[in-house]
Amino acid sequence: FPSRLNGRYALVTGASQGIGRAVAVRLAQEGATVAINYFDHLGRAEETLALATTGSSDRGHGKLDHVIVKADVSNQQEVAAMFETILARWKRLDCLVNNAGFQQESPSEALDIEAYRRIIDVNLNGAVLCAQKALAHFVARGGGGSIINCSSVHQIIPKPGYLAYSISKGGMANLTRTLALEFAGRGIRVNAVGPGAIDTPINEAWTGDAEKRDAVVSHIPLGRVGTPEEMAAVFAFLASDDASYITGQTIYACGGLTLFPEFRENWS
Ligand code: NAD
Repeated sequence: FPSRLNGRYALVTGASQGIGRAVAVRLAQEGATVAINYFDHLGRAEETLALATTGSSDRGHGKLDHVIVKADVSNQQEVAAMFETILARWKRLDCLVNNAGFQQESPSEALDIEAYRRIIDVNLNGAVLCAQKALAHFVARGGGGSIINCSSVHQIIPKPGYLAYSISKGGMANLTRTLALEFAGRGIRVNAVGPGAIDTPINEAWTGDAEKRDAVVSHIPLGRVGTPEEMAAVFAFLASDDASYITGQTIYACGGLTLFPEFRENWS
């Protein structure tokens, strides 16, 4: 891995497993000091910390001051306390990765409104709460910063049976673009990554079942499910100066899922 993030400080929300874990580890491998946010599984956050520490100390980055921080991203007080802890310790932050999120299936006409609110609160409002704190810091210290939102192909592809999730990811588009425009003049970049079908616990309903997995893969032009590490590579790029002229964009890392795959049949 390149050392593109030497000396940078990054917070990754929902970093106790899945894509968030891979992002935290990759940023550390590239030289960043990372704050690993978790919500309800300290043991898993500690595993992420161990991986991040091994990944970075192996690579001549010295001993970096990685830290675990607990917060429910939908809770304003907990988010405020998380940022206070990080900024008191590091005195600076360069990158926020809004990764925390979850989904729940329900027919939309029977969707429990509290479950609906919870998904919007975590996936979308949580990203707003964390972005506010990061932006306040970036503006106060000057010199820019970067926010990367974990969106989804469902930012643009409808997801029947997952109304709240679809709305939360659709909202990510305007969150990303509006903040990008509002803060571009201060050197702050705001982008998003749109994963396709990735091998993480969020998808355990089908990843371990050969038949269901084949059904998912049949829609993916590149012919396979993606890995968390492949997502992490895109986050690391966007966090780095290699992406210094990119803001307001969503990069879909989805094996071609956003390409209307059914149209393959016209040509094969
Ligand atoms: P995951 O379930 O493995 O990870 C989600 C993480 O978010 C967990 O660590 C969980 O503890 C955390 N989290 C949930 N609620 C939280 C809260 N209130 N506060 C703090 N953290 C909280 O799933 P994943 O696939 O790694 O998902 C990560 C992100 O990627 C999500 O935003 C998800 O929507 C997005 N995504 C995933 C896929 C995929 O196929 N895996 C596809 C598109 C988008």
